Amino acid sequence: MDIEQFRKAGYQAIDRICDYHYSLRNKPVVAKVQPGYLKPLVPSAPPETGEDFQTIADDYQRLIVPGLTHWQHPSFFAYFPTACTFEGVLGDLYSSSVSNPGFNWASSPACSELEVIVMDWAAKLLGLAPSFMNESGIGGGAIQSSASDSAMIAIVAARASYQREYPDTKLEELVIYTTSQTHSLGVKAGMVLGLSVRILDVKFEDNYSLRGDTLRSALEEDAKSGKKPFVLIATVGTTSSGAIDNLPEIRQVAKDHPYLRVHVDAAWAGVAFSCPEYREIGYLDEINEFADSFCTNFHKWGLINFDASTLWVKNRKFLTEALDITPPFLRTKQGDADTAIDYRNWHLGLGRRFRSLKFWFVLRSFGVQGFQQHIRKSIGLNDLFVSLVKQSDIVKIVTPPSFGLTVFRLDPPSQQKQTTESLNILNTTFFSRISARDDIYLTQTRLNGVVCVRFAVGAVLTSERDIRNAFSTISNEATWAVDAWNEQSKRSVT
Ligand SMILES: *Cc1c(COP(=O)(O)O)cnc(C)c1O
Repeated sequence: MDIEQFRKAGYQAIDRICDYHYSLRNKPVVAKVQPGYLKPLVPSAPPETGEDFQTIADDYQRLIVPGLTHWQHPSFFAYFPTACTFEGVLGDLYSSSVSNPGFNWASSPACSELEVIVMDWAAKLLGLAPSFMNESGIGGGAIQSSASDSAMIAIVAARASYQREYPDTKLEELVIYTTSQTHSLGVKAGMVLGLSVRILDVKFEDNYSLRGDTLRSALEEDAKSGKKPFVLIATVGTTSSGAIDNLPEIRQVAKDHPYLRVHVDAAWAGVAFSCPEYREIGYLDEINEFADSFCTNFHKWGLINFDASTLWVKNRKFLTEALDITPPFLRTKQGDADTAIDYRNWHLGLGRRFRSLKFWFVLRSFGVQGFQQHIRKSIGLNDLFVSLVKQSDIVKIVTPPSFGLTVFRLDPPSQQKQTTESLNILNTTFFSRISARDDIYLTQTRLNGVVCVRFAVGAVLTSERDIRNAFSTISNEATWAVDAWNEQSKRSVT
């Protein structure tokens, strides 16, 4: 493809992308295809000679679009929202058009310098302490691919600093602390690093939040048996139910255990800190005062297209001392003089995508107020959903609604108290009805053995009407499921 052919194909691509976005509301949310649908439609080897690009572009529409789940659909309430703004698309397009793997300053000065700046912008948007900012010269932030990468890096940095402090430590003594509600990234980091993971208990009564006492007794118990817990992954807004670990209590415990580093994973909920009214509930003051690192994903609810995970640390030396291997061919005078950040020492790979561009585009185009408006709108829509649920005598809220997430289950009124098992059967039936539909998409979870359904709001297109429609679909399916369940239990009695 030459430049003029690209110009033509590019115009067409933008036109088609616009048409796609216009048509979203009329599409099913989930793809109506079966596993393996694509294989018979695509040759099993690349073509011997190059094909005409128009054919390729048409095949994208014909073969790929029907197999997509439409995460930007206004009736997408599954998992967590994933950001897709036109500013973000353009940022990625420009970034892709120059393909700069800006691993150090000299390899592409603008890539590093813009990242240093937008990470401070993002920190200011969220109200993070100056000690997390690149401006501080001691702490700082970098864009990562995912919250899992961010946690892995925080753990690697914590391990290295612990080993420097206690050089006699054996690897098998080290322990990563998580809770039973921590994202699987905790256990995965343990697998990758060959370290043990201790999963602390959290309780329904505490809304699945980690309490100080639980942490304290685990630390004391492990100390007695010669184990070395060196890092805790605390969560603000767990994936299952939006739970928030009790950071004020954790902070008290951490004071007595200064070697324990604390990484706060707020992959989904962290962007809500852009609105000052959500800072207290998410314990931003505590994060600013005592967390060693903090991560949130702008690519979920934060309007910046995947991948846009942000990791901030209070001490950048912990990162560079753990990750800096400078072979002679990568040495630069700027790096040696410490006048520029070499971001390759702030993540696992060497090369990195030029992601700061989409941050710059989105944050400028929305402004702080536009960003806040998006967050407040989603939370307002979730509040509407909650108010509708509260009018139902079948659908019940399970844990307190968290930002834009509601966890509910069916629990119809009945003479005798229903067992968890029986209600799980009802909720599984209900969920299989919901998931057989293609006009709405929700996901399921289990909280201490209880089957629940998650309703997560955050797509840009979702409006009040979509929430009312969703609730009416849920109510109808709920009534159907309860009738079937009553029928079933009558039959099993007789
Ligand atoms: C989504 C999520 C993750 C995982 O994010 P990735 O960027 O896909 O690794 C981790 N933690 C929480 C709380 C999440 O919601």
